[in-house]
Amino acid sequence: MNPVHAATLVLDTHIDIRWPDPPEWTAQTMQLVDLPKMRAGGVRAGVFVAYVPQGRRDAQGHAQATARAEAMLAHIRDRGAAPGCRFCPGPDALEATVAAGEVAVLAAVENGYAMGRDLSRLQAWRRLGAVYLTLTHDGHNDLADSARPKPALGDAPVEHGGLSPLGEAALAEMNRIGLMIDCSHVAKPAMLRAAELSRAPIVITHTACAALCPHPRCVDDEQLDAVRASGGVVQITAVPAFLRPGPEGQPARATVADLVDHIDHAVGRIGIAHVGISSDFDGGGAVQGWAHAGETAAVTEELLARGYDAHAIGLLWSGNFLRVWRAVLAAAD
Ligand SMILES: [Zn+2]
Repeated sequence: MNPVHAATLVLDTHIDIRWPDPPEWTAQTMQLVDLPKMRAGGVRAGVFVAYVPQGRRDAQGHAQATARAEAMLAHIRDRGAAPGCRFCPGPDALEATVAAGEVAVLAAVENGYAMGRDLSRLQAWRRLGAVYLTLTHDGHNDLADSARPKPALGDAPVEHGGLSPLGEAALAEMNRIGLMIDCSHVAKPAMLRAAELSRAPIVITHTACAALCPHPRCVDDEQLDAVRASGGVVQITAVPAFLRPGPEGQPARATVADLVDHIDHAVGRIGIAHVGISSDFDGGGAVQGWAHAGETAAVTEELLARGYDAHAIGLLWSGNFLRVWRAVLAAAD
């Protein structure tokens, strides 16, 4: 393996898991991420997400969403109990785990829909080890507008015009308890409002640059600037449709070079201290050259070829995200 890659704390900040019936993760599987692939690819730490698809916003829908998120959080915690792994609820635990040669397993919740209208779930998830909450997924929820409304669920193009009052209360609670605010999937006005309101830096754990690929899930330069102003970090992700506009009607294709083009753009716009990397593997991510966790060194090799040094590569792979995480915890009550 490339020596710079081998010496870097490689943290992938957004990995989906098959649900229900996740395969045994310590075995070789058909998933793009499992423990053998992480080891082979030099991935020392991964944030696995309890993803909840947007559904009906009624009592039953909310109850099912909460139950799914919490069952997934328990499952992710169990992954960290496997030999050679550790579940890490904080940055110190993560660094100690990696220093001990073990794989750090982290958890997050994707879609604020999972809390329904009950703010107390946020603290419950923090106690279950969640490190961030993605405020929305595709489709508006009771917290905020999504960058991709779902007409099939009755979504208008704009519902709240940003964050709802409940969304603002959730943000304050997340600041209070040290749960990172992830604005991936979130509509631009809501994302800008979150960056402005939050007492702590915000994160965008899986996105790319609209300046290079005008996809609704990408962030434009004004949003990149807002991430920097908040002291936060934007994680460029390996979803082909976010990276390279595809030919009309055909699936998008992208390469590691396309991914690093987006990293270059974000670094050029807001500086090396505010940019990171994620795969979105098993949730739509995979590019030619970085098609599964076992190929992760290819990203470092492309960064080296573009002139990034080991220090910069360390910031991109984990240093910036860990700095932001510590700032979020320091700002908590
Ligand atoms: Zn996502």
